[in-house]
Amino acid sequence: MRALTVQPGTAGTAELTDLPDPTPSDQRLLVEGLAVGVCGTDREIIAGDYGWAPPGRDRLVLGHESLGRVQHAPPGSDFHDGDLVVGVVRRPDPVPCGACAHGEFDMCRNGRYTERGIKELDGYAAQLWTVEPDYAVRLDPRLTEVGMLMEPTTVVAKAWEQVDTIGARSFYDPRRVLITGAGPIGLLAALLGIQRGLDVHVLDRITAGPKIDAVTALGATYHHDPVDEVAGKLQPDVVIEATGAGSVVFDAIANTAAYGITCLTGVSTPGRRLSIDAGAQNREIVLDNDVVVGSVNANLRHYHTAADALGKADVDWLRRLITRRVPLEKFTDALTAHPDDIKVVLTLS
Ligand code: BGC
Repeated sequence: MRALTVQPGTAGTAELTDLPDPTPSDQRLLVEGLAVGVCGTDREIIAGDYGWAPPGRDRLVLGHESLGRVQHAPPGSDFHDGDLVVGVVRRPDPVPCGACAHGEFDMCRNGRYTERGIKELDGYAAQLWTVEPDYAVRLDPRLTEVGMLMEPTTVVAKAWEQVDTIGARSFYDPRRVLITGAGPIGLLAALLGIQRGLDVHVLDRITAGPKIDAVTALGATYHHDPVDEVAGKLQPDVVIEATGAGSVVFDAIANTAAYGITCLTGVSTPGRRLSIDAGAQNREIVLDNDVVVGSVNANLRHYHTAADALGKADVDWLRRLITRRVPLEKFTDALTAHPDDIKVVLTLS
């Protein structure tokens, strides 16, 4: 079978590698890989800036936004041959820390977690892969073409759970959410916001194209003016930040309603400096009882929430998010970003 592999830490090492087919076992599902989504983390790994190979090896199989079809389900598992499945990204650390011991491995305290396709475990960008039944999640068969959106949806399901948990510390009745960034994370966060009956606003820099169409088709409102102006007028109860751009982050935080919650999901590049009025930022957060929270990854609870959210979504709308499907052998095309890209997908069969 063929797999997309990379030598983490060294740029320009991504290649298609022939690897032995995994063999069926009674402990793991054997899955035919259908597709993987490509995201900023994959591009960082390919650029040599992130990622870790499995211990004792140089190369890592890439891919964490999985989608596959079960070829062999171990007897006694909850799965059947032919099920549409995704594999969970993260595994608990071996110690384990308290969070990992309680199934909250997305909140790992010691950093020794592993992640498929990212950190010390082979990923899902392979024509065949295996996964422990406890770390596989079945998808509605309606999602055959779009199920690789599941992993980014788990990330936003967790972000919304963070917002709810923080909001619940006092009386909480959010009405308006501002989402900064109309990439896959921003658009999927908007989908979940609409499913919750909120007044959803999405902000990005672009002035035309499929991202804006996707926002409008969802029933949300699109903005492209500077974030301080837009947020200043909207006074959102919740901000889900999905750009990772420092100036957007700080302008959003400064313009929430009282008791505002800003959830940061964008992983930014270090080394960019910004001059901010730290006193004003602090004063605003304190006087408004605001919260700023970072959120990454997802545990099994978020996978199940995400599977429900995608199951309820309009598949035609989800299809809009996949703007390019690139066959595995042309993987380099998938790594070059086009301005109108939302989600680029590598097809594996
Ligand atoms: C993935 C997360 C992962 C994070 C850090 C993101 O792209 O979606 O699952 O935890 O990268 O490695």
